[in-house]
Amino acid sequence: MEDVIIQGLTEMGLPAARAADLATYSRLLLEGNRVMNLTSVTEPEDVARMHMLDCAALLNCADLCGKTVLDVGTGAGFPGVVLKILEPSLELTLLDSTEKRLEWLKDVCRTLHLENVRFIHARAEEAAHLEELREHFDVTVSRAVASMSILAELCLPFLKIGGQLLAMKAGNSGQEISRAATAIVTLGGEPESTYMYTIPGTDVVRAVARAVKRRPTDPRYPRRWAKIRNSPL
Ligand code: SAM
Repeated sequence: MEDVIIQGLTEMGLPAARAADLATYSRLLLEGNRVMNLTSVTEPEDVARMHMLDCAALLNCADLCGKTVLDVGTGAGFPGVVLKILEPSLELTLLDSTEKRLEWLKDVCRTLHLENVRFIHARAEEAAHLEELREHFDVTVSRAVASMSILAELCLPFLKIGGQLLAMKAGNSGQEISRAATAIVTLGGEPESTYMYTIPGTDVVRAVARAVKRRPTDPRYPRRWAKIRNSPL
């Protein structure tokens, strides 16, 4: 597994010095998956590619060095924990509505000696109204949580002015991303170009949809979940 990670990171032009930690994280994921639903990916080499290398690719589309980063709907730590392993200077907050996975993630972060990691058990649309979290982060990241317009409503309120939203999407999400432009502007953001990449060792094409926060988000947003889901902006 470590070999696949080293090869993939090198192919992406990223340093491979922390590949052993990514391999440890992969092993912990597969062990934990025996007792808890963490991932549908069960082959070690697939974990290396579809989780570790996929998330590592974010480092090629944004400079996260020393940034405050919020992972919205982190699940088993993707992409946040991978980013923290590869860029230890970032201040990571992992947010999810499922407490069990966050407890598991606390153990993972302890085992990997990851410092400055915060865990928030909450729904994003509720946490974004808390004064200590609203307009607080340099970057929000998210993978496999919601459609782009819903994600914009969940993530943009957390960002400082000038902060960046990075949403990891399937390679064929072009229409979904362009349809979210109105939502992004309504929420105080500005759409940026989408970053495309292929996961090393596969023919899987992926996209990172990006937006920058330009103005404060109207305090009406995010709305309640039923409203967000039934009438996306
Ligand atoms: N980001 C991880 C990944 O790429 O493997 C997990 C993806 S999983 C399909 C979606 C995660 O988002 C789940 O852990 C779920 O609990 C969380 N989630 C969904 N909606 C949420 C919300 N409104 N607030 C917080 N967490 C949410």
